[in-house]
Amino acid sequence: EGFLPFEHEPYFNFGLDAVAGRQRDAYRMVREKYLGRAFPMYLGGKAVEGTATFEVHNPADTREVVWRFPKATPEQLEEAIGGAKAAFEEWRFSDPMQRATIFKRAADLLRARRLEFNAVMGLENGKNWAEADGEIAECVDHFEVFAREALKWAQGKPVYPMPDEHVTMVYEPIGVVAVISPWNFPAAIPLGMALGAIAAGNTVVWKPASETPLSSLLLVELLYEAGLPRNVIQFVTGTDDVLGDPLVDHRDIRMIAFTGSKEIGCRIMERAAKVQPGQKWLKRVMAEMGGKDPTVVCADADLDDAARGIVQAAFGYAGQKCSACSRVIAEASVYDELLDRVVTLARELKVGSPEENAPLGPVIHEGSAARIMDYVEKGKGTARLVLGGERAGSGEREGGYIAPTIFADVDPRDPLFQEEIFGPVLSFTKARDWRHAIDLANDSEYGLTAAFYSRDPQKINEARRLIHAGNLYVNRKCTGALSGTHAFGGYGMSGTNAKVGGPDYLFWFLQTKTVAQKY
Ligand code: NAP
Repeated sequence: EGFLPFEHEPYFNFGLDAVAGRQRDAYRMVREKYLGRAFPMYLGGKAVEGTATFEVHNPADTREVVWRFPKATPEQLEEAIGGAKAAFEEWRFSDPMQRATIFKRAADLLRARRLEFNAVMGLENGKNWAEADGEIAECVDHFEVFAREALKWAQGKPVYPMPDEHVTMVYEPIGVVAVISPWNFPAAIPLGMALGAIAAGNTVVWKPASETPLSSLLLVELLYEAGLPRNVIQFVTGTDDVLGDPLVDHRDIRMIAFTGSKEIGCRIMERAAKVQPGQKWLKRVMAEMGGKDPTVVCADADLDDAARGIVQAAFGYAGQKCSACSRVIAEASVYDELLDRVVTLARELKVGSPEENAPLGPVIHEGSAARIMDYVEKGKGTARLVLGGERAGSGEREGGYIAPTIFADVDPRDPLFQEEIFGPVLSFTKARDWRHAIDLANDSEYGLTAAFYSRDPQKINEARRLIHAGNLYVNRKCTGALSGTHAFGGYGMSGTNAKVGGPDYLFWFLQTKTVAQKY
């Protein structure tokens, strides 16, 4: 109660020279303070350097090694899980108010360092200022939201009474949660999963994506500084042969909270189903996976508005968001005009370095660029290329720079329409009418986000009813979910629909105890 009211963390206005100058200063400071350093893991509350390390590269110029992290050994993974298991015996009984207070403190600590965190992320995963700022502001929101959720779930829920019994139903934590996260949201995604676990009274083994460990480590250290007992989060970095299957398979892991690709999510589901010798529970799996998110544009829509939303959602962070718009489905009567407006806006996007705040930066690495270009080359044979379709230069830099690319007249059976490309590639498909457009939007194994543009209340009602997506946005872009407000998670092969940042999220990390006591 004392924490209310809630407000979303406002974004920086980088259009102001003074604010832009502060972001540049933060980049300078980060380069001075962190560049070339070897960072530790945290095991049993202690910082541990590795004998072997791996390099983290700057996507803006992949020749630049920004920092290094340890490669955990199997023994160190064992130590991490053992540490989290031991810590659970205390943390499970910790006062929810203590948890909430730590999160509130962490929110304040992060508010003071947002520009620094933005710069670290930019150097690891190539987000420009505004994209990084959106994610770090989301981290502040997560701290605020989870502080409140920790208190809310400490209450239990009322049940129908019995005349001769006193009956309560309360929620209890479950154990050690493995948090496994992707590089595209290296701060907000693992933080959301870890805070969900901790707010509920569980302990965590946190395994960040190998491309982006520092964005995670700084948050772990921030939580320690805010007063989190150090054993509650064990932070491990390294290679998948040690930290992939062996972490998932371990008998002392109670739950896996995963966000990443469909391929790895399905693999985790399958492996976690096997009960290991000595394992005393069925593992719980949260697996939030990919998307192939459509934007439907009806003939009566505000086309300028739709075009702006499409370009932001398709090309923001070079299309490397699970929520990115990758399919536009437009009614035949406005198809050409909309395509024209989108192409005009997308053509203006300058490709360049995220550190200099270019609107369109590189994709994460060369492997990803090659995979994306493979889709593009094949697409040239099956659809009509109207923009881009080639690698883009960025001065002397070596990175995965790809020109904003748009294909028109894409057939619904084309891989361009069906498969997650995860790059700056957008497809356009023509629908006979708005109802056909909804069917095409639903013609996908995924169901994460969708946008629907129309001014007709009847069409909007039908879209609300029929569109198969966990997050549907009407007359706005399909990216940019806010913690506490736009509970996030998809349908179908987009995953388990966990709805991070929503009012039911903590239930994932809890079990329910009924106690009936005779009067
Ligand atoms: P990824 O390849 O699946 O990797 C995700 C995490 O899994 C990384 O930490 C990775 O470690 C780890 N991993 C790899 N092999 C593993 C194994 N056998 N067992 C357990 N963990 C393993 O995904 P990504 O390329 O980083 O991320 C992009 C994908 O994430 C896209 O499909 C995107 O749509 C999806 N995504 C979904 C959401 C959502 O909320 N639904 C949000 C963001 C992203 P290493 O880094 O060391 O390989």
